[in-house]
Amino acid sequence: MTTPTAATPSRDTNSGDANSGDALLEVSGLTKHFPIRRGLLQRQVGAVQAVDGLTFDVIRGETLSLVGESGCGKTTTGRMLTRLIEPTAGTLRFDGQDITHWSVGKMRPLRRDVQMIFQDPYGSLNPRHTVGTIVGAPFHLQGIKTEKGQKATVQDLLELVGLNPEHYNRYPHEFSGGQRQRIGIARSLALRPKLIVADEPVSALDVSIQAQVINLLEDLQDEFGLTYVVIAHDLSVVRHMSDRVAVMYLGKLVELADRDELYTRPMHPYTTALMSAVPLPDTSRRKGRERIRLEGDVPSPINPPTACRFHTRCWKAQEICRTVEPPLVDLAPRHQVACHFPENADPPASDQGAGQAAGQPSG
Ligand code: SF4
Repeated sequence: MTTPTAATPSRDTNSGDANSGDALLEVSGLTKHFPIRRGLLQRQVGAVQAVDGLTFDVIRGETLSLVGESGCGKTTTGRMLTRLIEPTAGTLRFDGQDITHWSVGKMRPLRRDVQMIFQDPYGSLNPRHTVGTIVGAPFHLQGIKTEKGQKATVQDLLELVGLNPEHYNRYPHEFSGGQRQRIGIARSLALRPKLIVADEPVSALDVSIQAQVINLLEDLQDEFGLTYVVIAHDLSVVRHMSDRVAVMYLGKLVELADRDELYTRPMHPYTTALMSAVPLPDTSRRKGRERIRLEGDVPSPINPPTACRFHTRCWKAQEICRTVEPPLVDLAPRHQVACHFPENADPPASDQGAGQAAGQPSG
């Protein structure tokens, strides 16, 4: 078993269903503003613009990672995708159905198909319940009687995630952090979901345990055809796990591309800065590589910068960046970027034509 590193991607990017274009989840204009209320009458005096106008698809069988600094809105996005919180605007289509405004009752059967793995393997398990009760809770909540009986089914699940089925009656405090995360994974798998949203699934674990849990998630994906949305800030882990990566900054989607394309040719200046911080174990590739340190703090989502929200920290910013919001557009096959002056972009077709006409190599 190998620890994931930036230089040793192990997934076969763009393989299988991830390339089929068959969207399991279609997200359009997804927005979440949390109102700020003051005074006796609790009047709204503003809003935290946590997520603003996200549009992307999640393809059946792929792992799509959402990355960005703390506070960029990725966790809020994950919670909206699972309908744990209501979007303020936008639409969410799951398996062809518009579920944006489904009631709690109407959502209940869908909970089988959409599950979440939480960041904190300590806080997300009820310390007063046995592992058997925790992993079996989805059956209880959905009123499902399993063929083999609940205990045998839960024990199968424990075995599936590498835990001893004999530990059915133990309590969470009797397990290590990695084992607790396996319990959370077993619970999320109980109803054989189609989509799992994993919020920082390994960030609370030791590095050696991280690799085990990541490998487990990948094995389960292969076995059950699962689709993952992974929320993460560790770009080495993201590189190891993902088929595609979506980069968020202050509630906006700024870049979305296949993993290898994004890591080798980031185009948004913010992504370029993030990638410059990823460690490269290969010393020959470190030469000439400069770490880009972003100036200043992330602005407040209560009063975000106009137009391009990154303009207050961007070394390429010009007047248009402060006045015209850059749309998210395709700048290469399966590579979308929201920037007026992207890095590493191909020259416009008209320039290429001019170069070739002048006898220059198309390169
Ligand atoms: Fe920088 Fe302008 Fe691009 Fe925004 S639009 S990332 S400010 S160059």
